[in-house]
Amino acid sequence: KSFKSHKTSISNHLLEIHNNHKSTKMKKTYTLLVLILLIISCETVNKNEFAIVIHGGAGTILKENMSNELETAYKDKMKEALEAGHYILKNSGTSVDAVEAAIKILEDSELFNAGRGSVLSNNEEVEMDASIMTGHNLNAGAISGIKQIKNPISLARKVMEESEHVFLSGEGAEDFAVSKGFETVENNSFITERRLNSVRNAKKRDSIQDNKFGTVGCVALDKFGNITSGTSTGGMTNKKWNRIGDVPIIGAGTYANNKTCGISSTGWGEYFIRNVVAYDISSQIDYLKIDINQAAKNTLKKVKDLGGSGGVIGIDSDGNIMMDFNTKGMYRGYINSDGETKIEIYQ
Ligand code: ASP
Repeated sequence: KSFKSHKTSISNHLLEIHNNHKSTKMKKTYTLLVLILLIISCETVNKNEFAIVIHGGAGTILKENMSNELETAYKDKMKEALEAGHYILKNSGTSVDAVEAAIKILEDSELFNAGRGSVLSNNEEVEMDASIMTGHNLNAGAISGIKQIKNPISLARKVMEESEHVFLSGEGAEDFAVSKGFETVENNSFITERRLNSVRNAKKRDSIQDNKFGTVGCVALDKFGNITSGTSTGGMTNKKWNRIGDVPIIGAGTYANNKTCGISSTGWGEYFIRNVVAYDISSQIDYLKIDINQAAKNTLKKVKDLGGSGGVIGIDSDGNIMMDFNTKGMYRGYINSDGETKIEIYQ
């Protein structure tokens, strides 16, 4: 950003010289200089002053298994979430407000594996995990094993902003929520027929994997240059023993640092924890000075080499947007500062 404003002031200065100068030859030289400078600027200035990117999970998502109605429903819901966040950013709101607003919409939709519509554990309950991180102060909040709070992302934010801790779990996290005025809801208000069928099928196969991850995540960059990342999930179908995935683990499922980027992950959580995925991408940008797309590629390759799969979204400090995955599909989309919207599902 400072590079951008520096260039703007040089170019203003040159224009001034150009306007004041009498000699035509000198004028031509300055005009040429101004033009060259503007061309360089076009190529190197921040891609976006503000931007928002979301995912709704990666996995074996194939066009042939999707009806037109369902595809439209997914796209409409992603658009609604993106627009809610973009509206906040456009009106000079903060990235943390934008991320919370977008994720709440996805949590409230039963299409995604977060909030209502979360996948079920082996004992046919919903146990949700979420986290959020702000890149200007490296503050973070995370919760796991939540059974009664409607919007886990809001609770993660509360932990970040109003507790002296980063990570709370289970009943303690819910007690904290109640102490902060959150209402509790019945666990079965999160349960849908579709997820009940999936867990019963998974139990018959005695498998934790259904190859369809549906976690939701969002990264936003606001007009003040601040990046926030958030992720929310029901975890993996048929999970046992209070299993916790990557989503509430800062550095694995979620990471944000204004110096580098913000990242939200989705996929087979165990592999994302073992590769510290979100932090690995940020660190490559920090130490190797490579771009966010290359960094994401490198990290996803490490995930794949261990046998895992999934995807990541992110925005770097210059406003470049990244969406990458090594599965058949990933629900994903962004809106940049020009209002350009992209929403995609398949490879
Ligand atoms: N990463 C999540 C987990 O392992 C699953 C997902 O992305 O859908 O809990």
